[in-house]
Amino acid sequence: MYNPKSLIAEEFISDEEIRATLEYADQNKNNIELIEQILEKAAPKKTGRGVECAGLTHREASVLLACDIPEVTEKMYALAREIKQAFYGNRIVMFAPLYLSNYCVNQCVYCPYHYQNKEIPRKKLTQEEIIAEVTALQDMGHKRLAIEAGEDPVNNPIEYILECIDTIYSIKHKNGAIRRVNVNIAATTVENYRRLKDVGIGTYILFQETYHKESYEKLHPAGPKHNYAYHTEAMDRAMQGGIDDVGLGVLFGLDMYKYEFAGLLMHAEHLEAVHGVGPHTISVPRVKRASDIDPNVFDNSIDDDTFAKIIACIRIAVPYTGMIISTRENESCRNKVLGLGVSQISGGSRTSVGGYAGYSADERPHDTEQFDVSDQRSLDEVVKWLMDMDYIPSFCTACYREGRTGDRFMSLCKVGQIQNCCHPNALMTLQEYLEDYASPETKAVGEALISREIHNVTNPKVKAKAIENLEVIKNGNRDFRF
Ligand code: SAM
Repeated sequence: MYNPKSLIAEEFISDEEIRATLEYADQNKNNIELIEQILEKAAPKKTGRGVECAGLTHREASVLLACDIPEVTEKMYALAREIKQAFYGNRIVMFAPLYLSNYCVNQCVYCPYHYQNKEIPRKKLTQEEIIAEVTALQDMGHKRLAIEAGEDPVNNPIEYILECIDTIYSIKHKNGAIRRVNVNIAATTVENYRRLKDVGIGTYILFQETYHKESYEKLHPAGPKHNYAYHTEAMDRAMQGGIDDVGLGVLFGLDMYKYEFAGLLMHAEHLEAVHGVGPHTISVPRVKRASDIDPNVFDNSIDDDTFAKIIACIRIAVPYTGMIISTRENESCRNKVLGLGVSQISGGSRTSVGGYAGYSADERPHDTEQFDVSDQRSLDEVVKWLMDMDYIPSFCTACYREGRTGDRFMSLCKVGQIQNCCHPNALMTLQEYLEDYASPETKAVGEALISREIHNVTNPKVKAKAIENLEVIKNGNRDFRF
């Protein structure tokens, strides 16, 4: 029985409800009157408190996703852009993944870290190697990391992960610092989530891979990850453990995208219904080629147009969530989807264990890689590319450091207020990047962008303070935030 408030996986992600949703969406995919009503419901509305968006239910959003009428798709894209602009402006938050260990006891059939893969060398970073990796990442200009690890209670126990996080936060190299560590590790216990919270993690990210239980069990034939309920209920345990920023995701290509889309939105509705706060982020990875993985064996791959439509529909349905796109996608695909709702991208990424230290910008080790990186540009190139398109690359980590997490972030974001601090914070952290790490070409483009964008800070007091801080940053001081 479908019940978004239930804590039982098969009740809040009900197969029956997803099937009924897909049928409803198919029946209504040409129902222009209904589609117009849905788009109208989702449109930003000015209220006394600012701009607010109603979002959509999984049923409403599934109708939009099913509709193939080109003019409607254009309207959806325009609405997604408008919503993105209202809550995230033209800022794009930058991050990099850091792979700690590829030891894994699971057998995920799409992942090269699976236990039976004998082709891939197993590696786990020592604390000294972490210092070298993080120093290299700081030297690129990164301030925010997403740590990644396989699941192996012997080689990568929670104590190892906690020690790595402490090490990462402790490294202060030149003007560098990692100010936010997001964590993408396997589903774990409430107690372990509490320990992650206590060492100061940002978002806990866990991809569902697929919401389709039968496929899930086939795709994870053995190991702890085989347990669908334990995996699907992980975010509830994370929230019980005090982590209030959680990141959802589906690995697109494994099962039917319309099924996954409805499941993903039901998961977001469940978090809102039970914990009063939706997902802090949603990621949209697609299966990629890797060591012994051929993505073509999964017959549900989606083309770039469908991918773009999914992203636009997520933005419309869950207007306040951050949306993340990794270097699994190439430059042209990233370009296409940035405006449709993506708010965070990785840059200069390496997906191997120990891929940063000791390698030049064009050298990359492949032996322990998790997947092929499609966007192989350096962080500096990605930053310049974004600014050439009038986006503001942001290295900001202020919200979580100021306690603006969970429902506090959402309630500010919901009335568009988050922009009062995000915009100047983005400019100040970009100024730090330009001073410390940018190439001369990137610096010139960035300086011009900041002088244009500073005038878009509407509050005069904030604007004056931000201008003062920008000057102080040029004189060598760091780490200012609103
Ligand atoms: N081990 C953790 C877990 O089981 O959730 C998370 C870390 S894993 C390194 C991060 C994610 O990479 C997985 O959740 C999966 O969605 C994604 N992934 C695995 N194999 C992939 C592939 N061949 N192409 C693209 N993404 C992949």
